[in-house]
Amino acid sequence: MTAYAGGERTGPTAPPMRARAVVDLAALRANVRALRARAPRSELMAVVKSDAYGHGAVPCARAARQAGASWLGTATPQEALALREAGDTGRLLCWLWTPGGPWREVIEADVDVSVSGMWALREVIDAARACGRTARVQLKIDTGLGRNGCPPAAWPELTAAARAAEAEGLLTVTGIWSHFACADEPGHPSIKAQLAVYGEALEEAGRAGLEPEVRHMANSPAALTIPESHFDLVRTGIAVYGVSPSPEIGLPSDFGLRQVMTLAADIALVKRVPPGHGVSYGHYYITPGETTLALVPVGYADGVPRHASGSGPVLLGGKWRTVAGRVAMDQFVVDLGGDLVEVGDEAVLFGPGDRGEPTVEDWARAAGTIGYEIVTRIGTRVPRVYVHEDALQD
Ligand SMILES: *Cc1c(COP(=O)(O)O)cnc(C)c1O
Repeated sequence: MTAYAGGERTGPTAPPMRARAVVDLAALRANVRALRARAPRSELMAVVKSDAYGHGAVPCARAARQAGASWLGTATPQEALALREAGDTGRLLCWLWTPGGPWREVIEADVDVSVSGMWALREVIDAARACGRTARVQLKIDTGLGRNGCPPAAWPELTAAARAAEAEGLLTVTGIWSHFACADEPGHPSIKAQLAVYGEALEEAGRAGLEPEVRHMANSPAALTIPESHFDLVRTGIAVYGVSPSPEIGLPSDFGLRQVMTLAADIALVKRVPPGHGVSYGHYYITPGETTLALVPVGYADGVPRHASGSGPVLLGGKWRTVAGRVAMDQFVVDLGGDLVEVGDEAVLFGPGDRGEPTVEDWARAAGTIGYEIVTRIGTRVPRVYVHEDALQD
């Protein structure tokens, strides 16, 4: 893929690109190192589910490993297997299972699997028997999130059954883990309550005879703000990509993190229009006077939220502009207010902010959502362009 940096395409053969998501792997590696420094007694799992939050799973996984992520995490088993196919051989956990597996393929690929209930434990045991391997299982307790995880009332049964299978050599319980509901709201009473339930679950597991290698609870906001949640491993996703988990937590720069993705597009048309001219579907924007409009060739199919119609910010011609009218599937318009830009000039939707451009957090606010959704929804039609791939240059 073409190298692209600082607004200039590098290399004489670089093809023109309507739009691109530039992924700065040096920033990603620096973020991993900054997070490891925040949790110095714990290992770090880089969560690379959903194509590394839209950044590209394989290059991001490799960069995270280079910066010392001893674990990777995915939601689905298919995501984990894709990393193995790409050559990753380190510790890797996947946690979102449905009946039918693919348990056997994942066990044979030496991936740790999460189990939240008896149905899953039975399927892992059957698969381990069928392939003659010892499965690596991490038991998940629901300490209060109310989503995945074993309810405390069913925990004694699950831990005892897992211990029995362990004694038969069918599996090893490598981890006991849980997930927070409100770690992005510092001081929320559920945080202490979940930690207490987790402590009881660990005790119960110990009574059942389990000796897990890793205990872990912390996602990015907990890794950043709740040291007592770090245990043996922190599972950081959004912070690895240099995006804040929530406005309450603070800005990425407060934690020495740098946004990894820059989303930019080349202006496709610039034109003068008279006052009172309707702009884009539904005419939700009417030009207040004679002005110039610029056409930005990305739309909601590329992940630009339609909810940011009339509010999304763009750096163009040295100033912030705002989406004029509706975001369409493939394009939107900005009103230059009489300024001039050229066709082919670069519009930066978001980036780390060095050039005065908006950030992912700015788009999250404009669209009434969270940064996670902004980056994960960047569409497959937008090429990912990797820069600073060489870790030796850090
Ligand atoms: C996505 C996810 C994470 C990472 O969360 P961030 O807030 O992005 O750090 C950690 N653990 C589980 C179970 C997840 O699903």
